[in-house]
Amino acid sequence: MDRKASTPKPATVYLKDYQPPAWQIEAVELEFDLDPQATRVRSRLQFRRAPETGPDTPLHLDGEALELLGIALDGEPLTADRYRLDEAGLEVRGLPETGVLEIETRINPSANTELSGLYTSSGNFCTQCEAEGFRRITFYPDRPDVMARFTTTLRADKAATPVLLSNGNPIASGELEDGRHYVTWQDPFPKPCYLFALVAGDLGWIQDRFVTRSGREVDLYIYVQKHNLDKCDHAMASLKHAMRWDEEVYGREYDLDRYMIVAVDDFNMGAMENKGLNVFNSRYVLARPDTATDADYQNIESVIGHEYFHNWSGNRVTCRDWFQLSLKEGFTVFRDQEFSSDMNSRGVQRIGDVNILRTHQFREDAGPMAHPVKPDHYVAIDNFYTVTVYNKGAEVVRMLHTLLGAEGFRRGCDLYFERHDGQAVTTDDFVNAMEAATGVSLQQFRRWYDQAGTPELEVERHYDPQARTCALTLRQHCPPTPGQSDKQPFHIPVAMGLCDREGRALPLRLYGEAAAGGESRVLELCREEETFVFQDIPAEPVPVLLRGFSAPVKLALDYTDAELALLSAHESDPFCRWEAGQTLARRLLLTHPPQALDADTARPLIEAARRTLADTALDPALRALALTLPAEGYLAEFVDPIEPEQLHAARQALRLTLSRALRPDLEACYEQLTETGAYSPDAASAGRRRLRNLCLNYLIACEDDSAYQLALRQYEQAGNMTDSLAALQALVNSDCPQREAVLEDFYSRWQQDTLVVDKWLSLQATADRADTLERVQALTGHPAFSLSNPNKVYALLRAFAQGNPVGFHQASGAGYRFIGEQIRTLDGRNPQVASRLAAAFTDWRRYNPTRQAGMRTELEKMRDAGGVSRDLYEIAARSLGDDTGTN
Ligand SMILES: [Zn+2]
Repeated sequence: MDRKASTPKPATVYLKDYQPPAWQIEAVELEFDLDPQATRVRSRLQFRRAPETGPDTPLHLDGEALELLGIALDGEPLTADRYRLDEAGLEVRGLPETGVLEIETRINPSANTELSGLYTSSGNFCTQCEAEGFRRITFYPDRPDVMARFTTTLRADKAATPVLLSNGNPIASGELEDGRHYVTWQDPFPKPCYLFALVAGDLGWIQDRFVTRSGREVDLYIYVQKHNLDKCDHAMASLKHAMRWDEEVYGREYDLDRYMIVAVDDFNMGAMENKGLNVFNSRYVLARPDTATDADYQNIESVIGHEYFHNWSGNRVTCRDWFQLSLKEGFTVFRDQEFSSDMNSRGVQRIGDVNILRTHQFREDAGPMAHPVKPDHYVAIDNFYTVTVYNKGAEVVRMLHTLLGAEGFRRGCDLYFERHDGQAVTTDDFVNAMEAATGVSLQQFRRWYDQAGTPELEVERHYDPQARTCALTLRQHCPPTPGQSDKQPFHIPVAMGLCDREGRALPLRLYGEAAAGGESRVLELCREEETFVFQDIPAEPVPVLLRGFSAPVKLALDYTDAELALLSAHESDPFCRWEAGQTLARRLLLTHPPQALDADTARPLIEAARRTLADTALDPALRALALTLPAEGYLAEFVDPIEPEQLHAARQALRLTLSRALRPDLEACYEQLTETGAYSPDAASAGRRRLRNLCLNYLIACEDDSAYQLALRQYEQAGNMTDSLAALQALVNSDCPQREAVLEDFYSRWQQDTLVVDKWLSLQATADRADTLERVQALTGHPAFSLSNPNKVYALLRAFAQGNPVGFHQASGAGYRFIGEQIRTLDGRNPQVASRLAAAFTDWRRYNPTRQAGMRTELEKMRDAGGVSRDLYEIAARSLGDDTGTN
């Protein structure tokens, strides 16, 4: 029997069905009697019927996994005929225009394995309410356009739970009978319930102070488990930098008396911007030089900034509904990217951001899960916290910045915040403010929010030596995506320049202009095809397109290898310079079988790499990026079908060729960059370590004893986690006889530090070894692993499924069966994490028929499993091409 026939298909939610709330909640008083197994929640909702709502309209309150203990209206218990309780919540009838509804519920935080709502982590209570977790705490209109003032009282045993935190400012506290105590918090800013938070437990904290530029004193706190108190300094410094930056760049100040960050070990996402009380996955807070890598330090700065910036872009102005998620996320990712650029190296940051976009978002845009930045339907909103909503959303905001200029963009932001402070709004409201502040029409630009897919930008060039003109014809096309077969042209900003054959920039005068307008400018492509003619060009130039990657498109331009070599040596824009080198390497990798990638074939690349290694004037981080071969995930975008072991073999062969040809240069560079002195996470020091560790990675490709000794020495002498982990990784991916012993040593040194153990798991999951699958399977039974902890699942299972293409896609199908089984088990505990893991299967059609069959079978098993969650159902069904909604 087909089990699916008996399981009702989860319902789809559509943007077009949006209705404003019939009832508003003006104020909420919450009281929690905290107990791990039986927490009582009393809520007093001060409600008011919306003016346009008819008097017979019931009040719907969402509720999930709640035990209703009592319900009263204005102090009188409600009789059973006045309300109806079902799986989705509570419906109350016959309410007056305004009044107070009192509801008491009981919940079991320790049984909450979904980590949505109120749950326990390492013995402490914490919450995660975005997107729809508040309904698992109490009955409430759980939608972002219902904004209320919250007052929250927490009561708990004082000895076990000395710290009691919620949003806003503390207004009362005291002792109770039986060793209990209480604290009452009040948040003066109306907010949607997804921004509610509470944290309670036995936590330590560090404290600091920030004075805003208008003189407001803000107390800053970071709460952690006490053994982690020596790992909070970088997070605190990052917070203060972020607060200053938002004042300087956006004119935005903080608005409460205190700002609190809490780190917890069990968390589905990265972090959460709850008003005044951010809850963080501990990996984005905790850092000490011996336990955290440079990348960890960077990520902490970026995520701390991101959540802080949400105080304005997300909290003060929030989303009307979840289809508008990119309103807060795209904008805030753009803000955190710019913050990181200003704190570190802009070029390095941009290349990193483009890498994420092209490796992950372009792939999503080309597959069955493709959706617009503003989606129009979903089954489970948790599935739409995607690279499209976040990272492509940030690119859309970046294009506005490019089109309007920094000053125009700032005026648009000011107007947006001024118009909508305290409101729940849409992406249209955001674009409207940009238009109103600058007078620039963005009518066509709005398509970036509504059309899915990555546009392809084709460039044809024609040089006329008699007329001394260079004509560039730009043509755009966007392939169909599910539900959208025809696309309208996008409004694409193309930042560009022309250079001569020595790499010197040329002045740019467009046909009809009186004088040249600089050496770099932004062309705006609005039609399907447009030609731009540049004058006074003395000889055939080399065009440079998409400086700074000015639009999220795929560029096609028929560069010769010599032109790419020229740009990779001379181009002023760090992104275009890097891109030219990557394109050269990609051509080599995709047009030659691995055995043909010898020193002769790779000569131009070897010479360019030699120059880069020796170019001490260039930022070491940029040198490291230039010397890194394109990732297999990125190369996969250019082949059909994807043959993971071929891509891997080609990349490994080229790495070995470079290693052999450049050995003395690599050794010299490695030695020059050897550090002395104390660790600092600053961009320059991190860049030197990055380049040095890249040299090590090349050197070990030779697989000889002297390279092994170099790595072993680095492992033993490393004064920080970056160098230690880089050496370990080099060894784990080599045939070094000591590799197992070093792995064992690393674990025994760090087994008490859960975040370091995650690195140890990931190294093994991504190891370039024939027995990696067996190793990963065995590790699921290791005490260091737990299916209940999202970080462990990501560190081991996701690292294998998404970071080890050769292992996961092995021809036997064993990788698929193993991960498929893990996903189905996980779905019963934590659907959000299960569906994220399932992303490894979504683009199954890109592989050969045998692999397609293996992946499809697993997707079908997920979709058809009895009791499958909405989250996993949606990913599996959409991947299989089922219709989960029409546009
Ligand atoms: Zn965010």
